[in-house]
Amino acid sequence: MTPLLWEFLKDVHQGLRSLIYPQICIMCGMHPGEICSGCEKSWTRPPSFTRFNEVPSVSIAMYEFGVSNVILKAKEERNKCAQKIIATSLFRAISFLKPKEVQDFVIVPIPSTPQAIRKRGESFLQPILDLVIQQAAHVGEKWYWRELLVHSKKVRDQAGLTSQQRDAYMRGDENALPPRDKGPVRKFIRNYVDSRRSIGEFFLPIIVLVLFMTLIPLVYVQFAAIALMYSALLFSVIDGFFLSRRIKREVSQRFPDAPLKGLGMYGWLRSTQIRRLRAPLPQVKRGEKI
Ligand SMILES: [Zn+2]
Repeated sequence: MTPLLWEFLKDVHQGLRSLIYPQICIMCGMHPGEICSGCEKSWTRPPSFTRFNEVPSVSIAMYEFGVSNVILKAKEERNKCAQKIIATSLFRAISFLKPKEVQDFVIVPIPSTPQAIRKRGESFLQPILDLVIQQAAHVGEKWYWRELLVHSKKVRDQAGLTSQQRDAYMRGDENALPPRDKGPVRKFIRNYVDSRRSIGEFFLPIIVLVLFMTLIPLVYVQFAAIALMYSALLFSVIDGFFLSRRIKREVSQRFPDAPLKGLGMYGWLRSTQIRRLRAPLPQVKRGEKI
C-alpha cells in the first residue's frame, strides 16, 4: 500500500469516525476536532528556558490547564492525538536545541516509578518517544531512545535514615551511629547492659499482664494488678539506680578520662527496653563476660 493511499484512507476513516462520534478538542474540551487550532498553538511555541527545582531546564510547553489535560490524556488514556502532539513538540524542541552536526544520538527518559509502570503496563513515554524517533527518521536522522536510568526509591525512616544507614546503625557500625551512641564508652555501656538481665526489661510485659488483670471484675485481682504494676515500677527504679552506679564505677575504671555525665541514664534507658527492640541491636549474649 502506498503511503499516499494510506494517508487518504486514514483521512476517510477520521471523517467517518467524526460523523459517528463527534469529537471535541482534547485540550479545551470546547471546539470541534481532536485538538483545535487555537490549542495547538500552545505546543508550537519555541522551547523556553526555565528552572525546575533549581535545575536549569528547557520547557516545551507551559504546564497550564489545557496542557496538563493533554499530558493526562497521554498518560492515563494513551490518547493517540495527545501522544502525537507531545511527540511533535519534543521533536521540534530537540531539533531546535541540538547542534546541527549531531544527527546520531540517544534520548534517555527519566524513568517512571515501578508502580506507574505496573498500573499502565508500560512507561507512558514509550509510545511518545517512538513517535519522536519516527519523526527524526522522516528527516533522515538517526535518533534512539533507551531506558538507561533506573528508578531508585530511597525510603527514609522517621530518623531520616535510608535502609542501608539503618542496617549499619542497628549493627552498631561506629560511622553510622548518632552522637548519642558514638564512642567506646557508650559501646561498653551497651554491651554491659545487654550482658545481663534487668527487671526493667520485663516492665512492658508486666504492664500488658496488668492491663488484662484489670479487665477481670474481681476486686482482689484488680488490687493485685495495681500492686504488681507499682512494685515493677519501683523495682525498675531501684534497679536503675544501682545499675547506674555500677556503670559509672566500671566506666571510671576502664576509661579514667571519660566524663560520667548522662552515662547512667543511657544505660538505664537501654535496660528498660525489650532486648530485641534495643537499637543498636545487642552485640553480646546474656551472661557474656565483658
Ligand atoms: Zn481546543
